[in-house]
Amino acid sequence: MRDYNYYNNNYIRYKLDVEKYNKRAQTGPCFICEILKSNPNYPAHIVYQDEEIISFLDAYPRLYGWTIVAPKKHKESVILDFTQEEYLSIQYKIYNITKAIIELLKPERVYILSLGSHQGNSHVHWHIAPLPSGMPYNDQQNGVFKLDILKIPEEEQMKLTSKLNNSIQILNKHR
Ligand SMILES: [Zn+2]
Repeated sequence: MRDYNYYNNNYIRYKLDVEKYNKRAQTGPCFICEILKSNPNYPAHIVYQDEEIISFLDAYPRLYGWTIVAPKKHKESVILDFTQEEYLSIQYKIYNITKAIIELLKPERVYILSLGSHQGNSHVHWHIAPLPSGMPYNDQQNGVFKLDILKIPEEEQMKLTSKLNNSIQILNKHR
């Protein structure tokens, strides 16, 4: 069993500059559309993409392996902007991306949630948040959002991206 400290605390945590983050989310362009345009101001570690979705490591991870999945089309309603088929197709992909995360990181539990706001970060996206085993109860559930942001070195993020990408490709082949 992986130890919580090993899993997350080898990395320094820093306080999110909430004011700056909110300003960027509310007045800047859509961050997902900018990632899709390869805007250098919005760098991303892309773990998987196809004609329908893009998946990348969260730039402000509260947990190691926190991953985002979004449709490539700028949609805002998590239900009403999708047909059932489109929705289920994305969920199928979220299943494999999450399975790859589980196989690699052996989390104790995984949270999958869609947040966002029409006033900022409006492009529909799902968070896949793997909770490391041994994580204290108080840091779970709502506690996760009280954690500071992990500063994960660039090369570590590149390694993780490559491992996840490989496993997702393998899982997708066994459809
Ligand atoms: Zn967008």
